[in-house]
Amino acid sequence: LVRLRARLARSQNSLGKGLLTLLSRDNLDEDTWEEIEDTLLTADVGVAPTQELVEALRERVRVLGTRTPEDLRALLREELLKLLGTDFDRTVKTEGGVDTPGVVMVVGVNGTGKTTTTGKLARVLVADGRSVVLGAADTFRAAAADQLQTWGERVGARTVRGPEGGDPASIAFDAVKEGIAEGADVVLIDTAGRLHTKTGLMDELGKVKRVVEKHGPLDEVLLVLDATTGQNGLVQARVFAEVVNITGIVLTKLDGTAKGGIVIAVQRELGVPVKLVGLGEGADDLAPFEPEAFVDALIG
Ligand code: GDP
Repeated sequence: LVRLRARLARSQNSLGKGLLTLLSRDNLDEDTWEEIEDTLLTADVGVAPTQELVEALRERVRVLGTRTPEDLRALLREELLKLLGTDFDRTVKTEGGVDTPGVVMVVGVNGTGKTTTTGKLARVLVADGRSVVLGAADTFRAAAADQLQTWGERVGARTVRGPEGGDPASIAFDAVKEGIAEGADVVLIDTAGRLHTKTGLMDELGKVKRVVEKHGPLDEVLLVLDATTGQNGLVQARVFAEVVNITGIVLTKLDGTAKGGIVIAVQRELGVPVKLVGLGEGADDLAPFEPEAFVDALIG
């Protein structure tokens, strides 16, 4: 965790440091406030949250009078935390039903890190003493099932898969069935994320969801978004949210961008918390999203 924090800090520092430098200027004039806005927008914070934050900062700085670096840091920290929301429940639910395993569906556009995230999450759960079954319902991308199975073998989870190009819903169904038969604790279902037609996606994800729910409750639908895609990620998020009821967001590749503001923007867009973040390609590079640690890393 310490190592992850350090990495996050390295990649995110520029936003917070930039803001603090600007706020510390002797002459905090309109141009400077505009620069502060630009800094936030460049970091993908999004228009509405940027306006909200700048307004709050202006008011607080006005009341503050003398601006010591400590005051400014504390004030920025508070306002960023407010924007991130500290009262979201960010735990990934895996309770399941009375006699059924917890079921988590992982959705998102291909290439965002869906399969990798499913594998990493399996690892976290197995390390926690839970038995896991993986459902390779991404039958669209040829290598996805192999990739997931490799993860499964690595972490000690059975992978249920079907023929290439097969029906995702029937694989999801089989995976949950297998999970029940084995008495597994959790079933994680990797899905396909082709976005070219919304109705296609809607049909497919809707069907996966329905067949899963034939067995028992669906605990989570996690939307995987690539943090490096910026506003594009927001557009994707909107489409998925229309198609399926998203319960949490996983923001991947946060190690590859200084634009951590996307966390704020996407939560605001969906009204759903970021629960996990991906900080690298390795098996241990998935971390719970902790607003305090994130903001501390941001401000440095
Ligand atoms: P999928 O098509 O959505 O299932 O995407 P994959 O899981 O195959 O991931 C696509 C690429 O992104 C792979 O090369 C992964 O190793 C990489 N990747 C996934 N998550 C992360 C992350 O958090 N950080 C980095 N740097 N790379 C990631």
